[in-house]
Amino acid sequence: MAPEFLEIVPAKKVATEQKHNLAEAERIRRMVALHGSPLLILDCDAVRRQYRALQRALPGVDLHYAIKPLPNAAVVATLREEGAFFDLATNGEVDLVSEAGIEPSRTIHTHPIKRDSDIRYAMEYGCNTFVLDNPDELKKFIPYARKAKLLLRLSFRSPDAKVDLSKKFGCSQEAALPLLKQAAEYGIRVVGLSFHVGSQALDPAKHVEAITACATIVQQAREQGLPKLEIVDIGGGFPVDYVDDVQPINTFCAPIRAALATLPAGTRLIAEPGRFIAAPAMTAVATVMGKSMRDGRWWYYMDDGVYGSYSGRIFDHAQYPIDSLDFFGERSPSVLAGPTCDSIDVIEDNIMLPELECGALIVGRMMGAYTSATATEFNFFKKADIVVINERVGEDCDVLPLMA
Ligand SMILES: *Cc1c(COP(=O)(O)O)cnc(C)c1O
Repeated sequence: MAPEFLEIVPAKKVATEQKHNLAEAERIRRMVALHGSPLLILDCDAVRRQYRALQRALPGVDLHYAIKPLPNAAVVATLREEGAFFDLATNGEVDLVSEAGIEPSRTIHTHPIKRDSDIRYAMEYGCNTFVLDNPDELKKFIPYARKAKLLLRLSFRSPDAKVDLSKKFGCSQEAALPLLKQAAEYGIRVVGLSFHVGSQALDPAKHVEAITACATIVQQAREQGLPKLEIVDIGGGFPVDYVDDVQPINTFCAPIRAALATLPAGTRLIAEPGRFIAAPAMTAVATVMGKSMRDGRWWYYMDDGVYGSYSGRIFDHAQYPIDSLDFFGERSPSVLAGPTCDSIDVIEDNIMLPELECGALIVGRMMGAYTSATATEFNFFKKADIVVINERVGEDCDVLPLMA
């Protein structure tokens, strides 16, 4: 139905394309009438679109969706249909893919620090590929040496990334060969290298630097007669447009493709995209519960905030494209706050909004990654429900399509 709404409009254009917006606004209103507020609308078409875009940008790379940013069964099912692989880190994530019937050989477990019980839990499911970055973690695999395959995670610091994931995990390049030797002595198979340069990377330079360093280590391992490193896993970090523009994914990946081409032929290439697949897939809708003029500015108190879906404002340092659903009227600098009694619960303290009434709807875009996943129920404000649309390709649904 209504195929004209299937057209994809980039998030930041939404505010200006009011004609398009009216139809979408009506749909959002209907969804809130049906499902309540606050609401998160999860569009599986956006998941498909992102997966395919990254696949085109990284041909020959197996994309393991990192479950962490949006651990959701519909996302897993959608990606399964697309032929994706999965990246797990915890027992809960093992349960999610196991319940979705994902073939264990399509999964890897990438948490560098695990309890013995975590290793056994993943292996009981059938996931046998793990990640390590230190000698103590290596020793944990002595009992599983026959079955387990390991990737050695390296650290490449990215002070520029919004979330520098190489600060907490990964060994130095100097530590790599000694660890590989130690593994060989224990009879533990380390089959490849991995890294994560940091989430929402603004340019691909760190990925390229890391791939180049991996190529050197692969070469050195070969020269020293160590078992062949046949996998290079380039992690996640692929950026999306929030309030600021980032490079289109194909442009971002061009130097990465060139760097990957320098690895020995036959190397299995893996990436672990999380944010890139999840972020555009969810749209948050919240309702203004009350308003107050404070120091010359309207404060709007919504039923969702930084303790809820907007938790990524704090944990993920993300700034989302946010607007009121009523986009007409003169705008003035306003404050958008969450519902809790805590003063930190402010989403935006200087956002241009038309004057809103209680009951007005506020829409946050690009809110699929690190949002509901990190939400709390502080002050007994329930987390927003997630309603899924476009679960099946070409689904005939009249609450369809949000522009992601
Ligand atoms: C969080 C995480 C990812 C996903 O990172 P994005 O930046 O969201 O793509 C991938 N791999 C590992 C090991 C992670 O911890």
